[in-house]
Amino acid sequence: MSTRSVSVVGGGLAGSEAAWQLAERGHKVVLHEMRPVRTTPAHHTDRLAELVCSNTFKSTETSNAHGLLKAEMRLLGSMILECADEARVQAGSALAVDRDVFATAVTRRIESHPNIEIRRGEVTTIEGPCVVATGPLTSDALAEAMRARLGVGALAFYDAIAPIVSRESIDESIPFTASRYDRETMEGATEEGSYLNCPMDREEYEAFIAALTTADQFHGHEFDEVPYFEGCMPVEVAAKRGSDTLRFGPLKPVGLTDPRTGRRPWAVVQLRREDRNGNMWNVVGFQTRLRIPEQQRVLRMIPGLAEAEFLRYGSIHRNSYLNSPAALTAHLSARDDQTVLFAGQITGVEGYTESSATGLIAGINLSRMLNGADPVVPPESTMLGALYRYLREADPKHFQPMNANFGLLDDLPEKIRDKKKKREMFAERALAAMSEWVEAAAREPEHSAG
Ligand SMILES: Cc1cc2nc3c(=O)[nH]c(=O)nc-3n(C[C@H](O)[C@H](O)[C@H](O)COP(=O)(O)OP(=O)(O)OC[C@H]3O[C@@H](n4cnc5c(N)ncnc54)[C@H](O)[C@@H]3O)c2cc1C
Repeated sequence: MSTRSVSVVGGGLAGSEAAWQLAERGHKVVLHEMRPVRTTPAHHTDRLAELVCSNTFKSTETSNAHGLLKAEMRLLGSMILECADEARVQAGSALAVDRDVFATAVTRRIESHPNIEIRRGEVTTIEGPCVVATGPLTSDALAEAMRARLGVGALAFYDAIAPIVSRESIDESIPFTASRYDRETMEGATEEGSYLNCPMDREEYEAFIAALTTADQFHGHEFDEVPYFEGCMPVEVAAKRGSDTLRFGPLKPVGLTDPRTGRRPWAVVQLRREDRNGNMWNVVGFQTRLRIPEQQRVLRMIPGLAEAEFLRYGSIHRNSYLNSPAALTAHLSARDDQTVLFAGQITGVEGYTESSATGLIAGINLSRMLNGADPVVPPESTMLGALYRYLREADPKHFQPMNANFGLLDDLPEKIRDKKKKREMFAERALAAMSEWVEAAAREPEHSAG
């Protein structure tokens, strides 16, 4: 058994899970957590895995993307979910927790593990072998070290997320396929072009702008107030500058002709493909701070989106995250050292469950590499594997954090109309693949002396 210890930096959801997985596999782990020596603007305690906002890990039903992800994590032996079960409060089919009981349970588990030592204090350098899981509020000094190591453009400090809708929920009779001036191309483009264009006439546009500018906005914590620059201006803020602002901005119709009328529409909302299979479509330029019910109400006024199913909602946050497709490997390590892994929200996943899940895989992979095996990622037919694929293959130019959703998965071989049935079949396929993968991943070599 090796006596050399490995570092996990950040004792949040991802870091605690990664440390646990490593320790359970026999590795000595030093878990570095800067709180309470130094704190973040959102955390209030010194406990590990403190939940900074809502107290829910969302649905447990496998016909829900978050429920499926949790079922996969249970097959992988997630410690975070075991603690969530211990702290569960009544919330129907959602896994909601008493946040104090939850964080205390995680802290006790980690503190009492014989292979884990907790060190309190800020880490400012990156030295492998390690898992860096410092989250959306990574300290400035470490963020700087990441930029120096991975490239200046690799780390963003704010996200400006536009909503994504599912292809099957778009009314195909309304949007037309085209690229502006037939020029913009991208992977998956047809001969007609790359974008789905939702045309608006003047009346539709004016009603839409009126709804957008009067809709209810989310007001976050003070530290979360984002200094708006052009790239991340909420669409509702831009719309308030003047009734034509969007028509000359993201909704400009120039270079686009609606084949049904032979004319240029008054305004156009463009949908851009998010994935190779064309299951997920990004509502271009619609980064927003509108509340979720307001996003549903206002965006469903867009012609073609009356029945839109949102796979990701828009948001704008303070959020440090890496441009993983540009800067990291398939198993989310630095390109110059496979044993410098990243996990959690810093990798561009979004959410408590997604963050914990990447911590779990990072722990498994660092253990494998320390034992002389290659890193692995779950199959793409699983929710977690599909999320890793997204982090690897998304277009680095437009990369934004992503949550678990069914649009990430490849289609089933047969077409199934019933949505619930289809999701159940996705779940069945995913869980079978994950079970097989777990067995194979468990066959890593015995730990060699080091
Ligand atoms: C304000 C806010 C609200 C959110 N609300 C939700 C929500 O309601 N639901 C949801 O699903 N997701 C939410 N998220 C998104 C995200 O899922 C959570 O932030 C989640 O906790 C991420 O897990 P993590 O392990 O990656 O990071 P964290 O849980 O933040 O853990 C990172 C840890 O690293 C420590 N750290 C940072 N820098 C250093 C350093 N240099 N040295 C040592 N330690 C360091 C921090 O103190 C922290 O304990 C929210 C994010 C923010 C910022």
